[in-house]
Amino acid sequence: MMRSSPITTRFAPSPNGPLHLGHAFAAIVAHDLAKEHRGRFLLRIEDIDGARSRPELADEFRRDLEWLGLEWDEVRPQSTRIASYEKAFAQLKEAGVIYPCQCSRTDIQAAGAKPGPMGAIYPGTCRHLDAACDGPAQWRLNITRADKIAGQLKWYDTLDGAQFCDPYEVGDVVIWRRDEPASYHLAVTLDDAVDGVTLATRGRDLFAATHIHRLLQALLDLPIPAYHHHPLLLDETGQKLAKRRGSPSLSDRRLAGEDGLMLATQLRLQKFELGT
Ligand code: GLU
Repeated sequence: MMRSSPITTRFAPSPNGPLHLGHAFAAIVAHDLAKEHRGRFLLRIEDIDGARSRPELADEFRRDLEWLGLEWDEVRPQSTRIASYEKAFAQLKEAGVIYPCQCSRTDIQAAGAKPGPMGAIYPGTCRHLDAACDGPAQWRLNITRADKIAGQLKWYDTLDGAQFCDPYEVGDVVIWRRDEPASYHLAVTLDDAVDGVTLATRGRDLFAATHIHRLLQALLDLPIPAYHHHPLLLDETGQKLAKRRGSPSLSDRRLAGEDGLMLATQLRLQKFELGT
């Protein structure tokens, strides 16, 4: 009899604001996929955003997940991993696939950036600067160079099947930020590799980001997880549930005495209806 190897999934919230229903849904999707396969479900606090991060929220997140009846193994928060991000940053620099960029959001808009699935597609204004740049800069991935080195890549989504890697859909993303360390793209790609994540589950809004993550995996010689981009929970108006649109946080619900296990059951029903 063939034994399938256990899968490892993760829930990776950023403590920039409280968790809401959409997060609970994402956590349950990741948790249940792991448990259905007797695998591991990891919690990783993505607190790399020094200025916006609120450390006290991490404990609140743990209480929220417990309230929902989830069990997890916790791995190191991103703030303790900066040295590994720096090492990868140096590797990318050495490979000549990143360049410094001093453009502000306004500069990017003024240069006629086209909208993309992850925000404006960088028009490449600073590509010619290469490693010479005065003053503080952010560093961007030159996807044309990176793509040439990596060749045609594929990745796999458990809901959408095999995907050809198309980093041009997203463009030259920021790899290293001006005032903060590594960008989301670099940090999440490295962390998933180090944590042994074999099935990265996250919302469909991050589908296109995986083209970049796959490219980084090739450049940094990292293992390649499968992906599960689940549908997002929408509110009655069809908009993504988010705190800014007034959806109550999980901690508000918990402290108001709502039954977390019942809420988890309702979310599992929605999971079933959404086919994820
Ligand atoms: N920290 C990210 C977020 O909260 C995680 C995204 C991912 O799962 O890749 O959106």
